[in-house]
Amino acid sequence: MNIKQRRATVRIYRHGLGDCHLVTLYGKEGATYRILIDCGVIIGTSDATKMMTDVLEDVRKESGDNIDLLVATHKHWDHLSGFMQAKNAFSKLNVSEVWMAWTEDPDDKQASELRKDNDEALAMLQSAAMRLQMDAPDIEHPLLELLGFFGASARITTQSALEAVRNKSSNVRYCDPEDKPHDLKSFGAKIYVLGPPRDEARLRNMNAPKTPGDKTTYKMALDAFNQYLTPAINEDESHLPFSRPYNIPTQVAQTVPFFQEHYWNQQDWRRIDDAWLDDATSLALQLDNVVNNTSLVLGIELNEGDVLLFAADAQVGNWLSWGDRKWTDQNGTEVTGPDLLHRTVFYKVGHHGSPNATGRECGIDLMVNLAIAVVPVDHEMALKRKWGDLPFKTLMDALDQATKTRGYTLRTDQPPSNISLSRGLRSDPLYFEIDF
Ligand SMILES: [Zn+2]
Repeated sequence: MNIKQRRATVRIYRHGLGDCHLVTLYGKEGATYRILIDCGVIIGTSDATKMMTDVLEDVRKESGDNIDLLVATHKHWDHLSGFMQAKNAFSKLNVSEVWMAWTEDPDDKQASELRKDNDEALAMLQSAAMRLQMDAPDIEHPLLELLGFFGASARITTQSALEAVRNKSSNVRYCDPEDKPHDLKSFGAKIYVLGPPRDEARLRNMNAPKTPGDKTTYKMALDAFNQYLTPAINEDESHLPFSRPYNIPTQVAQTVPFFQEHYWNQQDWRRIDDAWLDDATSLALQLDNVVNNTSLVLGIELNEGDVLLFAADAQVGNWLSWGDRKWTDQNGTEVTGPDLLHRTVFYKVGHHGSPNATGRECGIDLMVNLAIAVVPVDHEMALKRKWGDLPFKTLMDALDQATKTRGYTLRTDQPPSNISLSRGLRSDPLYFEIDF
């Protein structure tokens, strides 16, 4: 690609398990349009504050403190933490416009209902987590990992990070896929909103392994939780298996030789004191996925029709909904979702390379012009935080296959391949950078 004719540059930060991207569009006479999409890293990252400060200081330097468009894709810590952790650097950025998904619009009725459901589930899960930590202060449990997406502490929450973004500009747009594409004429670009979908069935379709999703799945889990676990948390005696005089608290049992011998050390498998948390854990997983599915998905169309696709952490229902998208531009030309996928040359891989966050038939198979796929991931951290074996190997193989003739597939946790460098990638310890 010829530097003189470049239309856009994408800088992908390599700061860990999380997303932060700076997109620069070029206009006439050196004019630039800067888009910052997300800025966060997973909870438990060592030196997160320093890391995110380095990232935002680099954004400041590169942009001259001027961001035209700041995008918060969805309400998860690994996408928003930097706005809190690097408060100082963030405060120095001038932001002209903020975009979020319609799901964050305080005046949207459907969004308010969705948020109410999510907040209720989160409140219950937090009390379950509190109970768990009271019983066993040092416990590592998947529920606690899953709740980490909602913030570092009671005061520094993902919600507060979102508010920090919202307060950055008086010009806040809540993006809806029904909206007309945003025409940046002087930069030869148009931005399309592909998701999140308005359709509830699609919005609730997360394809979680145990409960192939539809509208009822999440709700059913919530009901089960209410029925069985709320009484357990609230210690209503009529719901306890044994009356109170016969209860032995876990911490006491741990000091009794009989229990020590039969229920701890090699005998842990006998214990069922956390069994009630299994439902809570599956609900927490679904809550995380439902929030992932509210991801704001943007397609940035450049001159000559090439598309840069930023899928955030969209799950399968979000992907499926793009198949129905249709927009008509000022000239009466129709553009569809599949059409944008067909013209996608750059794909920011969804949800750190997890198995259910990239469409196959409704995604990669349609991206016949894909040149570059980038996976923001940190394999070791994903294992440590019990996200599983990310990035998913079958997906990586498909991406390699799709990109190998025109470009390459990159992981932010690995050094760049020779082929990527020979095909124009710029590599720095802090970021990768690609021109289009
Ligand atoms: Zn994420």
